[in-house]
Amino acid sequence: MSDLVLVLNCGSSSIKYQLLHAESAQVLASGMVEKIGEAHGGCIVHDDGERELVHEGSIPDHRAGLRQAFEMFRETGIDLTTAGVGAVGHRVVHGGEVFWQPTLIDDDVLATIRDLSVLAPLHNPANVIGIESTRELLPGIPEVAVFDTGFFHSLPEAARTYAIDAKVAAAHSVRKYGFHGTSHQYVSRKAAEFLGRGTDELNQIVFHLGNGASASAIRAGVAIDTTMGMTPLEGLVMGTRPGDLDPGIIPHLMRVAGLDLSQVEQLLNRNSGIKGLSGVNDFRELGELIDQGDTQAKLAYDVYIHRLRRYLGAYLVDLGNVDTIIFTAGVGENSAPVRADALAGLDSWGIEVDPERNKTRAPGILRISPDSAPVQVLVVPTNEELAIARAAHELVSNPH
Ligand code: AMP
Repeated sequence: MSDLVLVLNCGSSSIKYQLLHAESAQVLASGMVEKIGEAHGGCIVHDDGERELVHEGSIPDHRAGLRQAFEMFRETGIDLTTAGVGAVGHRVVHGGEVFWQPTLIDDDVLATIRDLSVLAPLHNPANVIGIESTRELLPGIPEVAVFDTGFFHSLPEAARTYAIDAKVAAAHSVRKYGFHGTSHQYVSRKAAEFLGRGTDELNQIVFHLGNGASASAIRAGVAIDTTMGMTPLEGLVMGTRPGDLDPGIIPHLMRVAGLDLSQVEQLLNRNSGIKGLSGVNDFRELGELIDQGDTQAKLAYDVYIHRLRRYLGAYLVDLGNVDTIIFTAGVGENSAPVRADALAGLDSWGIEVDPERNKTRAPGILRISPDSAPVQVLVVPTNEELAIARAAHELVSNPH
């Protein structure tokens, strides 16, 4: 079976894609379709490793976006229908209580992913459209769903249960599911490989700090807690989402500020977090504002770090002792100040960051703790596309 896999990550108005070899990790092409369904600004940037092709013009829907992206593959010499693609791997956000393993997609699986949209109304519908589109455009190529919730299927009952009326929770599937699972699993395995240990020998804490952000506690390769919840809104402060919030704030705002449901969703998904506090959601811009003396930007940063440290403390206690602390994703891989401030003053816990190592930029895995420190603090670049490609290839090669 060819190990060439097309990986798709369909969001509500965007598609990220990559064509790569699952075994060697060699990427043949990658791209991004943006502003799908919007009147202006529709754009596809396609990179074949040597040059970048740009298509500008309105993109009415996901199917049209994919069709155009496939055309750009053709312009760079790859016809996806005949290139020997062995599988299409789809990042699917919510597997609910039904799916946690990578799953071969048939009509029933697709219908269930569609039904799970009730748990992820902003994400699963786009995943469904992506699957329908590739089935039409690449008929006969097996499709595999890899679920963002999958790795957190193992959460113990006490960690995944919300303390609300149990009957209401059961009737509406209200529980913690966790997200970014593919990334948490990938970087924790990579860290173990780097240290020459098995994941089953390690207690690990992972901070996936991108525009969305989450942390996890992993014992012997099994996730025992994570910060995101039933939805990706819970936990850490993010680019545009608040993370943990007193639930009473929502009815308060509905009552006194007159917000309706869609305004609440807008506030929580788009206008909160770093952006809500400072006006910008990109950490590079936040750093510039802080350097210029902007006090709101500094407050946003302090709230972000305070929340990280709260969960670090929680997970140190959850795990009892910790072998590795891992930083990954855009902020985690690139922001030395965030890493240093998140772990400052914890020498007595065996947690230290070497300032020189922390400043170093390296393409692979970087150890930023001093050699003498008992806890290994690592920067591990995530690669969700590769993890999805490998899962898809493995499943179509050895269907269970
Ligand atoms: P991701 O969601 O993993 O793609 O991460 C995106 C976020 O990473 C951006 O919004 C930035 O805030 C952050 N980021 C990317 N590069 C840097 C950098 N060099 N320094 C600080 N933050 C960065």
